[in-house]
Amino acid sequence: MAFEGLADRLQNTIQKIRGKGKVNEADVKEMMREVRLALLEADVNFKVVKEFVKKVGERAVGQEVMKSLTPGQQIVKVVKEELTLLMGGEQSQIAVSKRPPTVIMMVGLQGAGKTTTTGKLANVLRKKYNRKPLLVAADIYRPAAIKQLETLGKQLDMPVFSLGDQVSPVEIARQAIEKAKEDHLDYVLIDTAGRLHVDEALMDELKQIKELSKPDEIFLVVDAMTGQDAVNVAQSFNDQLEISGVVLTKLDGDTRGGAALSIRAVTEKPIKFVGLGEKLDALEPFHPERMASRILGMGDVLTLIEKAQANVDEEKAKELEQKMRTMSFTFDDFLEQLGQVRSMGPLDDIIKMLPGANKMKGLNNLKVDEKQISHVEAIIKSMTKHEKSHPETINASRRKRIAKGSGTTVPEVNRLLKQFEEMKKMMKQMSNMGQKGKKKGFKF
Ligand code: GDP
Repeated sequence: MAFEGLADRLQNTIQKIRGKGKVNEADVKEMMREVRLALLEADVNFKVVKEFVKKVGERAVGQEVMKSLTPGQQIVKVVKEELTLLMGGEQSQIAVSKRPPTVIMMVGLQGAGKTTTTGKLANVLRKKYNRKPLLVAADIYRPAAIKQLETLGKQLDMPVFSLGDQVSPVEIARQAIEKAKEDHLDYVLIDTAGRLHVDEALMDELKQIKELSKPDEIFLVVDAMTGQDAVNVAQSFNDQLEISGVVLTKLDGDTRGGAALSIRAVTEKPIKFVGLGEKLDALEPFHPERMASRILGMGDVLTLIEKAQANVDEEKAKELEQKMRTMSFTFDDFLEQLGQVRSMGPLDDIIKMLPGANKMKGLNNLKVDEKQISHVEAIIKSMTKHEKSHPETINASRRKRIAKGSGTTVPEVNRLLKQFEEMKKMMKQMSNMGQKGKKKGFKF
């Protein structure tokens, strides 16, 4: 996972100070030394590190902290606030033109993930904002770039505008905007050409497209894995083109995080989205505060809730709650719930969003065995309808049959039955607690 080393080091450092009843300047100095090293090791730009350490250090020995009853905790709060500010403070929005279509120019070096991100962004615009985008293939130099965008368009069932590779990108952009107007499409996403390095010819072409298409946004796509190079690239593009925001891709890899933490401070331009995988739904808005919280091991419950809301049907959730209360929860319900949780993404990632998960013994290295989950699904599917709702009837010979039918073993079947029984017991306790709480007037 990205930021792993940084998260570990910062969490260890703040852990030490958090618990202290009294904090003196020497403690703060020691902590800041560790913070500095952690950031440098994460490949954060050295100027940014210097500035950050200075700011946090000053605030940490200031009145607001030292005079408080819990200085250790206050310092942690300061670190989180400053880390959030470093990454941009508030989450930034995506432009909407008063006179549609809204034009977004996608720029970046070859291989950064520009074409893929163009598809992902179109997907977000439709799914989240109910917009109708037009994808524009203006990368006429990279072989296969046009084809790649057309394929993405097909997958998304969205229009792609292309004039082949013999027409100039400026002309392609011009005609595409006309076409979007005609067809009442409200976003135009121009996938411009990339190069291996920043060069003058590329910048000239991009400037011409900018001049003509008057984009509402220019998104620079950079690869988080390239660390400080990504920051330098961002700086050059910004100097030449005045970009409006950055999309940081490949944050699903094991990047140390330097780019994410430096780009805003160096370019003064926000990271608007982050790419978290190759699939078309792997683009998420960047939330500085949530990211700071994740890095400091405080979890990211808000993202978790959003994921749940996007994937879990509210009616079904209510129905499930009812079933839990009345104890009529069956293996069929269990299977359905399992499916919903899995649709939220890899379980390892979900667990990591829980506050303190990194510090919980065993959880930090937990690799959820997806194969095991498939076994559970197979076992449940091999039960008869009656067995699913009356697991107490599953005797030894039935267990053998289920194991055989699901391609698993009897001990695995036994384990699942036992777990299910325990889960039901827990639900019973919880629902009793809920009832008691209600009587006493607790809020749940
Ligand atoms: P372009 O040259 O900038 O247009 O780059 P592409 O869009 O062709 O992407 C280059 C490679 O990076 C492709 O293999 C993409 O699947 C991959 N890629 C793009 N974004 C991400 C991301 O967020 N995570 C991962 N793991 N791979 C990505």
